[in-house]
Amino acid sequence: METTLSVELIHRRLEQVYERVDRAALSAGRDASEVRLVVVTKKHPVDVIEMACQAGATRLGENYADEAVEKIRALAGIKGVEWHMIGHVQSRKANLICPHFAWLHSLDSLKLAKRLDRFAGEHSLTLPVLMECNVSGEESKFGWAAWQDEMWPDLVTAYDEIVSLPNLEVRGLMTMAPYLPDPEDARPFFRKLRGLQSFLTLRLPQVSWGELSMGMSADFDVAVQEGATWIRVGQAILG
Ligand SMILES: *Cc1c(COP(=O)(O)O)cnc(C)c1O
Repeated sequence: METTLSVELIHRRLEQVYERVDRAALSAGRDASEVRLVVVTKKHPVDVIEMACQAGATRLGENYADEAVEKIRALAGIKGVEWHMIGHVQSRKANLICPHFAWLHSLDSLKLAKRLDRFAGEHSLTLPVLMECNVSGEESKFGWAAWQDEMWPDLVTAYDEIVSLPNLEVRGLMTMAPYLPDPEDARPFFRKLRGLQSFLTLRLPQVSWGELSMGMSADFDVAVQEGATWIRVGQAILG
């Protein structure tokens, strides 16, 4: 999309996303207010992000910790904005997450969890986190191996330690479906994540697994029908 971005255009696209969420929620008998939008601003410069904020975006998602922290500092003057880390975080970058990000959608190892817990504690903060799960088996994907149900008991062992960390608040799961031309083909992966959520709710009931971060520009309608509480949308809003 080579259209020149403007606040008006971004606003219109945001409205279109909300309409799609409303339609998808309605078709599944869900309440659209259960679905929150993260506008993915990765690779976009700060002037574009400023326009997105003026257009009404309040939750912004970034993938690369260093790049994100630079932008967060540059945009510190904008009030009422919440940053979400949605990309893989190397353990040695764990110190960049607290205090810059309100949520981490992509917790994918025990080592990272322990480091995040330590830094969150140093800032006297509690960091809400989602476990990123690989439910497709694609090698290119980060996340806990979870594409076969037989793998799920191993997750309980690892998560049991993570949920006991005092400064992390485990809130649910995140996944990326494989890129498929027909978004309908992403549905089984979203269902699988919801199945894993039910399994973990039984096995680790001491935390709430209620949040599901799933769905991007191409497939968020299907993700909403399958129970997404967070969708992460970039292209459909910022091109
Ligand atoms: C880039 C990205 C998105 C947004 O994808 P779009 O296709 O631009 O909507 C969502 N989640 C993650 C983890 C991403 O890296």
